[in-house]
Amino acid sequence: MKVKDLEFKKLIPADKIEKKVAALAKQIDKDYHDRTPTFLSILNGSFMFASDLMKHLTIPCRISFVKVSSYSGTASTGQVKTLIGHEESLFGLDIIVVEDIVDSGLTLQKIMEDLKGLGAKSVEAMALLRKQEAREKNIQVKYVGFELDDEFVLGYGLDYDGLGRNLPEIYKQVPANPK
Ligand code: 5GP
Repeated sequence: MKVKDLEFKKLIPADKIEKKVAALAKQIDKDYHDRTPTFLSILNGSFMFASDLMKHLTIPCRISFVKVSSYSGTASTGQVKTLIGHEESLFGLDIIVVEDIVDSGLTLQKIMEDLKGLGAKSVEAMALLRKQEAREKNIQVKYVGFELDDEFVLGYGLDYDGLGRNLPEIYKQVPANPK
């Protein structure tokens, strides 16, 4: 499948994603059965994951959407901007940050620091996907859907230059000239 100038092939089918999201929701139901967590969905990439996750949860919970951006094209700029869009106080709340993918982990680390500084009672992270670099750096993500190698992916909320977020599956980039 071609998206703009890049070639992609299917990596994770929709039914596998659906099962994994349901399993993650079940785990949260269990871990938070005596609390009312607030999910902070990091836009834009996590909108689909967060939405599907919410449908599977049975405990009382809240969701808010925040934005932060460090990516342009297919390579991280290494710069992380601050969190924007959370007007309500987070004081005393049990927060679960919902990320689409953790690559270098810089974005997540910055978000977690910001949230702890805002007086949240607890802060945990969940990510549908985690790449090799984050694993090597031991970035703390309590709930992870799928582990990836160092590959660029799109679909299920993730984009390439704004395209592909609507795809129900996850695709990975195929190198133009594989050696
Ligand atoms: P990090 O700060 O962990 O390096 O990057 C995190 C953010 O970069 C993610 O929330 C996501 O928006 C973007 N990102 C990282 N890897 C990929 C990828 O393979 N595909 C897409 N579409 N975005 C990615």
